[in-house]
Amino acid sequence: MSQPSASVPHLSIVSPCHNEAAGLAELVRRLEAVCRALPSLAAGGYEFVLVDDGSQDATWSTMQQLAADHPAIVAVKLARNHGHQLALTAGLSVCRGERILIIDADLQDPPELLPEMMRLMDGGADVVYGRRRQRVGEGPLKKLTAAGFYRLIEKLSDVPIPRDTGDFRLLSRRALDVLLAMPERHRFIRGMVSWIGFRQEP
Ligand code: UDP
Ligand code: MG
Repeated sequence: MSQPSASVPHLSIVSPCHNEAAGLAELVRRLEAVCRALPSLAAGGYEFVLVDDGSQDATWSTMQQLAADHPAIVAVKLARNHGHQLALTAGLSVCRGERILIIDADLQDPPELLPEMMRLMDGGADVVYGRRRQRVGEGPLKKLTAAGFYRLIEKLSDVPIPRDTGDFRLLSRRALDVLLAMPERHRFIRGMVSWIGFRQEP
């Protein structure tokens, strides 16, 4: 792991990566373009925490290469594949930002929504979550199982978890600190974030 600088960045972007070598450069390019266009971040007040979750492809070497070229990148390598939720938890534990954007590495969620999410947080939200209006590139079976999953979770849980959201979220530091203090070992991050409270907006 390499740390870019000691000062606290305004924004950390955290992405779990499993066999994402082919898309990583594009991910960094899109994230950087979005960050550079935001006045509050333009001066370099951001870091990208990329977590290699025991990939079998060239994810780690690609990540190291990108980190060598981009000082904003913090590359983390897990010793084996732990799965999406634990890889994300690892990234969230090392990130240092005042605000934290969680985004999948496969670009299924558009980084270009960041300015709007930042605006909602400026307005007082502690959690801003993306909501999927359509599932691009996913087949009918995945759509059906995903719809069933959210409706089942809704029945089982006391806490309403917004439907059809991934983990695509902007969190305030205080919301993240509450999340990180939760001792659950089998972690379902989007459910846990719903549970913590504060103002949460789609
Ligand atoms: N991922 C991970 N570990 C895994 C599986 C996936 O870190 O064991 C990452 C993956 O690289 C992606 C995110 O988690 O950034 C979501 O994975 P995927 O796209 O497979 O999930 P889905 O889109 O079906 O929710
Ligand atoms: Mg995906």
